Amino acid sequence: MPIDATQPYNDSNIFARILRGELPAKTVYEDEFALAFHDINPQAPLHILVIPKGAYVSWDDFSARASDAEIAGFVRAVGQVARDHGLVAPGYRLLANIGVDGHQEIPHLHAHIFAGHPLGPMLAR
Ligand code: AMP
Repeated sequence: MPIDATQPYNDSNIFARILRGELPAKTVYEDEFALAFHDINPQAPLHILVIPKGAYVSWDDFSARASDAEIAGFVRAVGQVARDHGLVAPGYRLLANIGVDGHQEIPHLHAHIFAGHPLGPMLAR
């Protein structure tokens, strides 16, 4: 079920639980501002999620409330993960689903990195 991204942050969500160490994750990168781990249900040969460590529901919430350091840290973490996995030359897809129409299911901001084969044209059906 997609979530309403206008609701306040609820720290019982799955990614908050991963950040607290209550649920396992296949972590590939971590720093002060961000955590990256493999998606549990990969939609491409490589499918990684990058999340900010702060409590933000969506891109909108993050861009409005996060500090400059948090925003820079998250953006740099996404780039670092892509470089660490050798994705710059072959390319990759970066996606954030927001709210109901975006079919966001987990109410903690996350960027999907899809890679590992030609991904085809973007579908926005
Ligand atoms: P979204 O529709 O953008 O909210 O995507 C949520 C993503 O989180 C989906 O691709 C799920 O497969 C993924 N996911 C859900 N639970 C877990 C988990 N415990 N560990 C890793 N990925 C997860």
